[in-house]
Amino acid sequence: MPITISEKTIKSDFIEKVKKLSGQNIHKCFQCGTCGGACPMSGQLATLPRKIMRMAQFGLENEVAESKTFWTCASCHSCSVTCPRGIDLAKVMEALRQLSLRKNVNYVEPSKLPSETVKEMPQIAMVSCFRKMTS
Ligand code: SF4
Ligand code: SF4
Repeated sequence: MPITISEKTIKSDFIEKVKKLSGQNIHKCFQCGTCGGACPMSGQLATLPRKIMRMAQFGLENEVAESKTFWTCASCHSCSVTCPRGIDLAKVMEALRQLSLRKNVNYVEPSKLPSETVKEMPQIAMVSCFRKMTS
């Protein structure tokens, strides 16, 4: 579905927060798509990293949140090492997760996990998941 960009949808405070939290100048991205080609999770992402960067450049906070891409990102840093503009995209993804978590949005609800899953999952994977996906 096409995204509408207008004065109402552009959230400049969101742009500043992403820049500050990630330490990255997201406006350096020139949409080459190299990050998506390097991303091992690209087959699982509803929205490719290049598009997430574009939406972040325009301050489209809601659209970025709805994409859920930053939850699926495995923080592998493949995109960061291949970006020709030197953008550490993994840090941008982490900033997007943090901004969502700060609104008390949990991507995984520990109390709702099926007991079979809790029994079978390695503890270290559970702890890692909760650290990354719960506020
Ligand atoms: S590789 Fe870098 S410049 Fe290219 S689309 Fe991704 S973030 Fe933007
Ligand atoms: S850090 Fe995330 S977005 Fe970047 S290549 Fe790895 S999984 Fe993909």
